[in-house]
Amino acid sequence: KICRADFMHAVENDIKPAFGVSKEEFDLYIANGILIWGQAVTDVLEEGHLRISQTIKSEMTPLVSILIEGPPNSGKTALAAHIALLSKFPYLKFCTAQTMLGYTEIAKCQQLKKIFEDAHKSALSCVVVDELESFLEYAPVGPRYSNTVLQTLKLLFKRAPPKGRKLLIIATTSYRDILEQLGLSQSFSKIIHVSNMSSGKHVLHVINEIEHTFNDDEMKHLEKTLNDKKIWIGIKTLLDLIEVARQADDKYRVARFLATLEEVGGPNRRLIQV
Ligand code: ATP
Ligand code: MG
Repeated sequence: KICRADFMHAVENDIKPAFGVSKEEFDLYIANGILIWGQAVTDVLEEGHLRISQTIKSEMTPLVSILIEGPPNSGKTALAAHIALLSKFPYLKFCTAQTMLGYTEIAKCQQLKKIFEDAHKSALSCVVVDELESFLEYAPVGPRYSNTVLQTLKLLFKRAPPKGRKLLIIATTSYRDILEQLGLSQSFSKIIHVSNMSSGKHVLHVINEIEHTFNDDEMKHLEKTLNDKKIWIGIKTLLDLIEVARQADDKYRVARFLATLEEVGGPNRRLIQV
């Protein structure tokens, strides 16, 4: 005979909540893992651990919010998703403006409100808000943005969960200045800076971690050339360059790889990184 206890057991254990998100979906945002290319990465992860335990343990702060900021392609989204997974909280939600394309301001606000209300129902929740500025439809001309969404986010980031429940909010942005001007960065308990790689050693570390990219001779050449170089490049950009080199199969691929690296992240780089 099936009784209420069985039903409750099923609700607790077998049914994935419609509003929560599975681990696999988070993995999509960490497609290439997290490579520890330098102390900067270790520092970010350590801060993440600290904030997770603060969320769990502290009675005084049932709401902990962190803003992960850094240049484009520096790995912010992957780090936010990684920290969320590290928490192992039962309610995990990844919000991106991509899934709200074409929504009216009101619809966006309602969706965000729903996500946070659902989060408040779980004892331990973690909500990732990726590319925070993109929810605001910010445009530098004017400048223009959705004040309705801005006010909604401010309130949601401030509202502590009901008694006995804990919420960790992890947002990301490449536009820290804008969030500061809009008074949104002040909503966070901690701002964590994610850095680009800044030296050839960092780059070599990544190349070494990804096996079967270059042969021994090529590696020797790379080590000699890169070891003492200053290079400014984001992990996402570097992984793209390595992928291109992997696809090529000729004797010029290392030279090409180094030339592109110089172009993108060398002292005369043409791309101005934000
Ligand atoms: P964008 O500015 O376009 O939003 P981003 O800064 O969010 O880019 P990600 O989308 O997180 O960058 O891309 C980082 C990629 O690098 C992911 O595929 C991730 O798996 C990989 N990666 C490897 N090592 C690291 C690391 N130490 N930190 C972050 N990402 C890493
Ligand atoms: Mg991102």
